[in-house]
Amino acid sequence: MSKKFTFDYDLIVIGSGPAGSAAATIAAREGKRVAIIEADTFGGDSPNWGDIPTNALLQAASLYDEARHGSRFGLRSNTLGYNYPSIRAWKELAVKRTGAGGNKKYYENQGVSPYVGLAHFLSPNEISVNRRHLSASNFLIATGAHWTIPEITGLQTIKYLTPRTILETIRPPKSLLIIGGDKAAVEIAQLMATFGTKVYMVEHSSHLLPNYDKEVGELMERVLGEQKGVMTLTQSKVVSVQKDGLSKRVIISRGGVEKLIRVDEILIANEKTPNVDLGLENAGVQFTADGITVNEHLQTSVKYIFAAGEVLGKYSSTHTALMESQTAANNILHREKIAPDYTANPEIIFTNPEIATVGLSEDECLKRKISIKKAIAPLSIVARSNTSDFRDGFVKIITDKKGIVLGASIVAPHAGEMVHELALAVKYGLTAYQVADTPHAFLSWSEAIRVAASKLS
Ligand SMILES: Cc1cc2nc3c(=O)[nH]c(=O)nc-3n(C[C@H](O)[C@H](O)[C@H](O)COP(=O)(O)OP(=O)(O)OC[C@H]3O[C@@H](n4cnc5c(N)ncnc54)[C@H](O)[C@@H]3O)c2cc1C
Repeated sequence: MSKKFTFDYDLIVIGSGPAGSAAATIAAREGKRVAIIEADTFGGDSPNWGDIPTNALLQAASLYDEARHGSRFGLRSNTLGYNYPSIRAWKELAVKRTGAGGNKKYYENQGVSPYVGLAHFLSPNEISVNRRHLSASNFLIATGAHWTIPEITGLQTIKYLTPRTILETIRPPKSLLIIGGDKAAVEIAQLMATFGTKVYMVEHSSHLLPNYDKEVGELMERVLGEQKGVMTLTQSKVVSVQKDGLSKRVIISRGGVEKLIRVDEILIANEKTPNVDLGLENAGVQFTADGITVNEHLQTSVKYIFAAGEVLGKYSSTHTALMESQTAANNILHREKIAPDYTANPEIIFTNPEIATVGLSEDECLKRKISIKKAIAPLSIVARSNTSDFRDGFVKIITDKKGIVLGASIVAPHAGEMVHELALAVKYGLTAYQVADTPHAFLSWSEAIRVAASKLS
């Protein structure tokens, strides 16, 4: 009997988020016997607790915000209001329409055997799921990550929210303190502040969005502060929390000086920890608390066990998880191995204005000792800024000394769409001159890209 028939499956995928599902369906379509194991809700974060529900709420918030400020365009909006249960119902509809959330049947229809339960490795070829043992010749670990709960005195004694649980709150709290100032924190800060919550953000770095160029974080801090009354406390940390009747007392330390803030709710949205607690030592798979170790082909230290997505501890976006899943599927199915290409990977934050980046940031260029040229075009320079009465934003482009585009950051109303032009430039090594020389339509926000690129030509 050939080796592959000594196992129950050709491939077992652990985790049904984007990093798991793509590979499972690709392998099943190629005729492989595939199982997928999910401990919680099928579909993972993206359709259930991340991208889709958050974006649906942000869409409602953005419309509400625009309409409320419509008087400057001659609109009457004094009586405008919202009904939060209806907004939540809209979010549920958006989630349901994706068809990916909680849909076990989807996998059966794709010829994949779904199992509900926590997978745990017993040996390099065997896992247990609900006391059942399953074996396979290949594995893909796509277990994602969970919100890291910081060590703060008193935190265990109070109820706190995460970006997942805040989606289920009956109504926006009167006041909210967010621990963290990265992507999810900034999106939720704007969302809640738009619906009237008094928001505080506590971030230990010197600016919000510490992994982005500092102009981005500084602008968002100003926008959130001036327009939404969000109070950002940078270079600060939460020292202790305590229940105080229906509210919470939070002690924050900034440069050795302590400050007391009283809030209704606390949200933990600091950083994520990869889910590596699945008996990896029994399989001989190398890992650290920061994620599973893989080579360029996404193979772990055991060559037929692959890993993809947030469990690698590097990237945190659905399209990256999908790209890695497709790469892993190819490498499981075919002799010719490929590697994921991260060079032109866009990152989008769905605030208003949106934030989008691609390629290298200025800090990364510095770390890699790459000599660069850079240019910034403020949004106010383009005609669209006048007709939209919107000025908060910019396009920043970074090139190497020869003018080849290495990276870009955009803060603009449609930055998430605009960024793909610069992703193309980064991926195919185009110069700033080639970008500037491409016609950009009058009254598009993308004119700011042409202006920034022309400064580097
Ligand atoms: C608020 C928020 C907004 C976001 N918005 C966006 C966005 O707009 N665009 C974007 O690209 N990305 C966004 N993201 C990020 C995106 O959702 C994640 O990067 C993506 O879901 C990661 O996919 P994954 O498959 O690696 O992990 P996950 O989606 O987390 O899936 C992992 C799955 O593995 C399961 N699992 C874990 N351990 C086991 C085990 N031992 N056995 C069985 N199953 C297990 C988990 O239950 C989970 O379902 C957002 C995230 C959040 C939180």
